[in-house]
Amino acid sequence: MLVLDNVTKAFKTGTFGGGTLPAVRGASFEIRPGEVTALIGESGSGKSTLGKMILRLTPVTSGTITFEGTDIATLKGKQLREYYRHVQGVFQDPFSSYNPVYRADRVFATIKHSYFPSVSGDEWHERVDKSLQAVGLNPVDVRDKFTHQLSGGQLQRILIARALLLDIKILVADEIISMIDASTRVDVLNLLANLKTRGLGVLFVTHDLSLGNYISERTVILRRGVVVEMGATQKVFDNPQHEYTRMLLTAVPQLHKKWEGELGPELETTRVIPEHNGRPGRYSKSSLHPLAGMHARKGRRAQAAATERDLAAGLLRTDTYLRTHEEAPPLVEIEEDHFVAISAGAK
Ligand code: ADP
Ligand code: MG
Repeated sequence: MLVLDNVTKAFKTGTFGGGTLPAVRGASFEIRPGEVTALIGESGSGKSTLGKMILRLTPVTSGTITFEGTDIATLKGKQLREYYRHVQGVFQDPFSSYNPVYRADRVFATIKHSYFPSVSGDEWHERVDKSLQAVGLNPVDVRDKFTHQLSGGQLQRILIARALLLDIKILVADEIISMIDASTRVDVLNLLANLKTRGLGVLFVTHDLSLGNYISERTVILRRGVVVEMGATQKVFDNPQHEYTRMLLTAVPQLHKKWEGELGPELETTRVIPEHNGRPGRYSKSSLHPLAGMHARKGRRAQAAATERDLAAGLLRTDTYLRTHEEAPPLVEIEEDHFVAISAGAK
């Protein structure tokens, strides 16, 4: 229902508008109702830029994004407001979405003003409470509280509750799990799972493979602004075709080793994946558990965090800074609903 067709975003760089930075190149995929689509890529790969284009926060340079058949670039005024009634975003840092001077539930008042001016105060109050309950919050716990009195997980859920009031069909959730602690992670993940059973389409943006694997039906792998592989999550994870996807997956066990054995036996199945740089790639299902990092023993947790940081830094060196201007490779279908970029050397 939301379709991206050959979407490109080039940011102008340099004071005199000399250069351009191709943040997204030729991305085509769709967000389907009742499904979570995971958009996975390292920092700087263009995930948020894609999310912002979908939310019309930044225009596309070329290509089209259509929602229910209409090119969203053409929407103006009232139509754009209607679009936002159906398509909403929740972003990484829940604290930044709130003004600390106001109470947290002010975010509801702002949509009442724009979308529901004729709804009575009492009726509105009731709707807000229902929506808060739908995201697992007790209204009395959060209404009238200031931002600093609430946890990141609570704020995150208030933003989702706000989106629900609008009759949304598509939710762009950009790194929303990263900022919240272990105890609320699962709640928010379950909430997203619940949203999809209500028919919502969710774009779940993450740099974390384990979260993507856990929550999504479909996966889109983004590298330097280019979709290199996409398809049913199980196909992409069980049989990754692009070198880059394999690299991401083989990077997982180094993190995983530190907490091996901490999870139940059913999560310990080691998988062999196709060769990567001549070496057989292996990763363990347990390392893809969304709480894998959280299960590390004390002391080891710090070690794990350090490894993760190094890895992130290493990946950044090879990825963000070696950005190129080459043409985005076309995707070819390798099996039903599983696509890979042609340059993968996919034999
Ligand atoms: P991600 O969300 O995957 O970390 P982003 O979409 O935020 O990546 O960024 C992709 C690339 O576009 C990065 O190189 C980033 O520096 C660049 N970028 C993002 N926003 C802007 C902007 N407003 N102006 C110029 N460059 C930008
Ligand atoms: Mg981002």
